[in-house]
Amino acid sequence: MSSSLTVTGIQGRQITLPTGLFIHNEFVPSSTGRILAVENPSTGEQLGTIAAAGPEDIDKAVQSAKAGFEAWKKVSGPARSQLLLKLADLIEREAHDLASLEAVDAGTLFTDSMGLNIPQAIGCLRYYAGWAGKIDGKTLDMEGGIAYTYREPLGVCGAIVPWNAPLMITIWKIAPALVTGNTLIIKTSENSPLYGLRLAELIKEAGIPAGVVNIVAGDGANAGQSLSEHMEVRKIAFTGSSIAGRKIMQAAAKTNLKKVSLELGGKGPSIVFDDCDLANALLWTRIGITANNGQICAAGSRIYVQDSIYDRFIEAYKKAAAENPTVAGDPLNTSTTKGPIVSRVQHEKILDYIRQGKACGARLLFGGEKIGEKGYFVQNTAFADVGDNDAIMREEIFGPVASIAKFSTEEEVIAKANDSSHGLSAAIFTNDVNRAHRVTKELESGQVTVNAWAMLAPNVPFGGVKESGFGRDMGEEALEGWTQVKAVKYHILPRL
Ligand code: NAD
Repeated sequence: MSSSLTVTGIQGRQITLPTGLFIHNEFVPSSTGRILAVENPSTGEQLGTIAAAGPEDIDKAVQSAKAGFEAWKKVSGPARSQLLLKLADLIEREAHDLASLEAVDAGTLFTDSMGLNIPQAIGCLRYYAGWAGKIDGKTLDMEGGIAYTYREPLGVCGAIVPWNAPLMITIWKIAPALVTGNTLIIKTSENSPLYGLRLAELIKEAGIPAGVVNIVAGDGANAGQSLSEHMEVRKIAFTGSSIAGRKIMQAAAKTNLKKVSLELGGKGPSIVFDDCDLANALLWTRIGITANNGQICAAGSRIYVQDSIYDRFIEAYKKAAAENPTVAGDPLNTSTTKGPIVSRVQHEKILDYIRQGKACGARLLFGGEKIGEKGYFVQNTAFADVGDNDAIMREEIFGPVASIAKFSTEEEVIAKANDSSHGLSAAIFTNDVNRAHRVTKELESGQVTVNAWAMLAPNVPFGGVKESGFGRDMGEEALEGWTQVKAVKYHILPRL
């Protein structure tokens, strides 16, 4: 393995990255020589290899974070704030390279990274920078005295992140973790580790002290598992699949009972009532399942349409797809509107669900095929008349596959929407404000968007209920997950 890797970014720009594990602000090789091959999903070609962490490297990163914590917990709020603001500025400066890396590695459209993921990451850092020095406890009256509470950092924490919108999701962990005084080991996804190498360089350049953020690439079974099992790690903040989330909870349970927060998958319902603005509903229900090729945990993959407008909606949905053909190709090209699926495995999984959709008796409206022979492209696909128990209606596909069905009453659609083990994100389309309030209250979902789909903002908490997980990224709520409360009690002695 070479100590650097060069990939071609936007406008032919050559981006050279270190290939080591970022431990204690240095790039180091894996202690056992483990490597990870990095692939471009547009072509299926290997871009190169980088170091992958094994249990020994995870332990080194934990020791670094432990040493880093002793100094970091004493850094003042304003100083922490300055460092987060500096990192935000550097990400802004390097946006083109970071968006290029997400494009060549994760298949994310360059324009999507530039337009959404990177601004969200920057906004998140700036939002939490504003919290520095403002995370206070309470003063409480107590019989026989008074008490007060501190909100203290947890210590050394781990963050295990997925490949979709990887920079943004990583920053959702870094910003609240650091502002509350914790130190971190980030394990990037084996499907998209390259952004982590550039981010590590920026963390060092920002002046964030050694040990505060360590970033390692590696697979789930070795690196992820050993981080989750480590006895000196106090929390794992995880975003990814429910299967891996369960393993992380088990690892925490059988070791040191570390805290766990889980941001898992979804099977989001989008509910279209007959009193909605139909053009708006069509727009957002299409975006909700095609943005990032449906590889979004909050994807609106179940679309329920009221029976009185069902046929009209279906015709308009088909027409809109026909009138807006996708341009599949290199996600670095700014005229491309459809990038590849992240990996061969994920591509095959999506094609298999499409086969199941065709076999289960649902009506294929459009799509349903892979695109080309090179890379991992798949058509935007929609099925109508999907049954409640069909796999494409129940299981997270994580691809651009919409499952549409009809309903007649509010009660019926609430029951259908809630008949899922997931509960991450939902959308409803109606112009009746009372109905909007009634239905949002009934939905079992971490977030509900009215008349749009999955809007994001750094001050608004994001996370799931049921098997979509627990804990929250973003907003004031995330700060709770990165702190613990100490209560101090003063016994006031009576006058003698
Ligand atoms: P994944 O679970 O396969 O991988 C996520 C991360 O977990 C990777 O870094 C992986 O290496 C690691 N991992 C895998 N097995 C592990 C183990 N045994 N121990 C520790 N770590 C392990 O998920 P993915 O394919 O990268 O991402 C897609 C999934 O993530 C989807 O289910 C999607 O819905 C979910 N997701 C959720 C959110 C959210 O905020 N709720 C956001 C994005 C993605």
